[in-house]
Amino acid sequence: MNSASKKILVLGTKNKDKLRELKRLLKGAKLRALSPADFPGCPEAAETGRTFEANAKQKARAYSKFTGSLALADDSGLRVDALGGRPGVYSARFAGPGCTYEDNNRKLLRLLQKTPPSKRGAKFVCVVALYDAGKLVGVVRGECRGRIAQAPRGRNGFGYDPVFIPDGFSKTFAELPKTQKNKISHRGRAMRAARRLLLHSGFV
Ligand code: IMP
Repeated sequence: MNSASKKILVLGTKNKDKLRELKRLLKGAKLRALSPADFPGCPEAAETGRTFEANAKQKARAYSKFTGSLALADDSGLRVDALGGRPGVYSARFAGPGCTYEDNNRKLLRLLQKTPPSKRGAKFVCVVALYDAGKLVGVVRGECRGRIAQAPRGRNGFGYDPVFIPDGFSKTFAELPKTQKNKISHRGRAMRAARRLLLHSGFV
């Protein structure tokens, strides 16, 4: 099957790091993955919900409506036990508007300065929503439990990867190879469920 005859799947995110991971996780799928940037004039979808699910649906619906295609959007973030589930849906902007990944990690480690290793549990959550031409196809979810490190470690990945140690490992996500992260990560799990959903719904 050449790429022109494949069904288009719009990956509804403008975050380059997430886009790279999503594309990698779709390898081998009989779909032509495009980004909103491939559609001139496509506005950035709003993200005003209070839950990962509401935001994922809001983004996927908007991109599928604008493009008239199948669209997938993920909303993801980190829920830290000792912070009552924060930063949650506010993970990207935890340290304030325009903040960097480093600012967020610094704030997180500062808030947990006095929290002992046994109480540093956390989980990454990823909710993926799929819409086709404005109609809901389905919503799936993936989670990955772990704990927050004492200091950032590693150069792979993005966001909170340098401070997140997944259960069963002593290395942070940023120290693990990408293939290993994708096997166990919230996004890897959610995307495998999304691929099953696309298969069962007859899209691939
Ligand atoms: P959003 O889903 O675009 O609202 O942003 C999710 C935010 O959560 C990202 O900007 C990161 O800060 C964080 N995040 C989500 N997934 C990951 C991941 O796999 N590794 C590290 N940080 C992540």
